[in-house]
Amino acid sequence: MLNQAKNYLEEYFGYDSFRPGQERIIKNILKKENTLGIMPTGGGKSICFQIPALCFSGVTIVISPLISLMKDQIDSLNTLGIPSTFINSSLDWMEIEERIEMSRRGEYKLLYIAPERLNNDDFLWKLKAIDISAVAIDEAHCISSWGHDFRPSYRSIPKLINNLSNNPIITAFTATATTEVIKDISELLDISDQNTFISGFDRPNLTFTLIRGENKRDFIEEYLKVNQEDSGIIYAATRKEVENLTAFLKKKKFKVGQYHAGLSHQERKETQEKFIYDELKIIVATNAFGMGIDKSNVRYVIHHNMPKNLEAYYQEAGRAGRDGEPSECILLFNPADVRLPKFFIDQSKLAPKLKKHEYKKLQDIIDYCYTSKCLRSFILRYFGEEEIVESCDNCSNCNNDNEVIDITIEAQKILSCVYKTEQKVGVSTVADVLRGSKKKKILKSNFNQLSTYGIMDNYKIKEIKDLINILVAEGYIRITKSKYPVTKLTKKSIKVLNKEEKVYHKGRKEIKKINLRNE
Ligand code: ADP
Repeated sequence: MLNQAKNYLEEYFGYDSFRPGQERIIKNILKKENTLGIMPTGGGKSICFQIPALCFSGVTIVISPLISLMKDQIDSLNTLGIPSTFINSSLDWMEIEERIEMSRRGEYKLLYIAPERLNNDDFLWKLKAIDISAVAIDEAHCISSWGHDFRPSYRSIPKLINNLSNNPIITAFTATATTEVIKDISELLDISDQNTFISGFDRPNLTFTLIRGENKRDFIEEYLKVNQEDSGIIYAATRKEVENLTAFLKKKKFKVGQYHAGLSHQERKETQEKFIYDELKIIVATNAFGMGIDKSNVRYVIHHNMPKNLEAYYQEAGRAGRDGEPSECILLFNPADVRLPKFFIDQSKLAPKLKKHEYKKLQDIIDYCYTSKCLRSFILRYFGEEEIVESCDNCSNCNNDNEVIDITIEAQKILSCVYKTEQKVGVSTVADVLRGSKKKKILKSNFNQLSTYGIMDNYKIKEIKDLINILVAEGYIRITKSKYPVTKLTKKSIKVLNKEEKVYHKGRKEIKKINLRNE
């Protein structure tokens, strides 16, 4: 049957071969297994249900929340010679009846429906008369309340499935790969682990670079001078920051456009079009820019501030290099960048469980900013990708020729301070104690009596905090959040405290400085 699928790929779509992730998924679906496929946007999910639909005898129902795209999707399928149609609220009663009737007669291979249809019992009843081979659920994360795009009507999908007469195969697709969302989808749709496939997240042509502790504006100015000819996007956290950075770059005589939700529709449209048609090379924007923009030759994406989580980062950074040519994704990190996303979570009205989840995702991207290991493998591991190479030779950590330095002594001091403060205080307090601060808060808690008080008084607070953050990123300290974030020891850190394990770090500037002072 896989051969037949390959023939269809060539015959209808004109492609010579499946991408590796697609082949595994399609093979599994053709074995009639319920299947969950997780692939990034642009990874080629549609073919994973469209080709099996051609192989099966009956109709494949596709549930998709993207009503505005449905007509275009169906038009292009029909152009390819794949008989398909859709049912959503844009149609009148007569049209819906007609399309159901034609589906019943087997005149379509694919029937796209909007999830809202599932709340209509009359519609569900009519589906019973159709020979349905498979139900494909696009944007399947909408079924999970953990997902960023929860749709209550997706919850009716299991009801739809139970209602259908001939036990169709269930397939689900999403680009969201967090564990909670996957778990929710698999449970609600009854898809087992061995039928879940995560792939295609790697973008080998993208170079990941992390820059800490440098003057961001100077860096951007220098970078743009060297890369004048290329198209690029610079993301900043707020509208104000976009405006300030744009003004700065204009003053430096760069031709830049700005884009954020506070500008008029007309202004945004013009900037976007100029960028797409290469009349404008540089865009400074908030995260409002980029949705639905399919510009293939973006050579770099610079983040002036750390985004709120790795999903957001990878999606925005991933706008670089769609044409497969080498492109750069640069994140400029300053610890102060953590404040804004943290503030948004603090202020949000999310349920406590969801809030905790958002803090965890924020911590994960902070860890990304401090790790000295391969940045690509960090991202791929985050997304659950199955085959990971530990070193990519194409990120700033793998290409960092700084020497590996031994920070065991510093780590022992810090970990022992976490222990002495009874794993009940946050990063700032641990740093204050180590530095020997005379703050009221420290003295009032008698932390000045601890044996670790002042044992790192030859470091600046920022340097101690950086070291703590490195230990967090490398799994020696865990930050848990009860009322406020608290430092905790881990299994790994016990080994360091017992002198059974050393801690190494691929030195960046700041850490090297610390070491020199120690010598
Ligand atoms: P997704 O739904 O995952 O965002 P699409 O299904 O829209 O992605 O596919 C993204 C692009 O990749 C489309 O232009 C599609 O035609 C192309 N594509 C998909 N599969 C293949 C393949 N096997 N070979 C070449 N191009 C492919």
